[in-house]
Amino acid sequence: MSGYFKELFGGTKSLFVGLGITFKYMIKPVVTVQYPHETLVMPPRFRGHIELVGDEETGAPKCVVCGMCQKACPTNCITLTGEKPEGGKKKVLTGYILNFTTCSLCGLCVESCKFDAITFSRDYNLAGPRKDAYIFDLKKRLEEKSG
Ligand code: SF4
Ligand code: SF4
Repeated sequence: MSGYFKELFGGTKSLFVGLGITFKYMIKPVVTVQYPHETLVMPPRFRGHIELVGDEETGAPKCVVCGMCQKACPTNCITLTGEKPEGGKKKVLTGYILNFTTCSLCGLCVESCKFDAITFSRDYNLAGPRKDAYIFDLKKRLEEKSG
């Protein structure tokens, strides 16, 4: 008979311990995000793929086509092109392609740019079905962002 009460007491105790834990988590603030319906804003130091920075007034790329980022990249992910407009003195960026499939996010390109013309994006939602979805036209992206 004493074994019966011992078992009953043990079962009841474990039931209340379990209910206590359930209740504790019921009133705690929710920390999970219903991805992909909800997404998080990444903190400032987050390193997503690189992106071009636009001029604050005109929105045009700040890049002066010096080629330093391209030279600094250890895996040749950057292909950029530029041309001098007729009568102009400075080169204008005509294309900036990032092959993100071989980018290690090392940051050497960002560090080498003396014009603050590239930075890390906070874009992390990059799942895609094909490899070519990771060849980014950064000039086009900037134009779309600037509207
Ligand atoms: S280092 Fe900066 S300014 Fe030079 S090509 Fe790269 S992004 Fe443009
Ligand atoms: S972060 Fe590194 S690997 Fe990626 S593009 Fe820049 S230099 Fe190349």
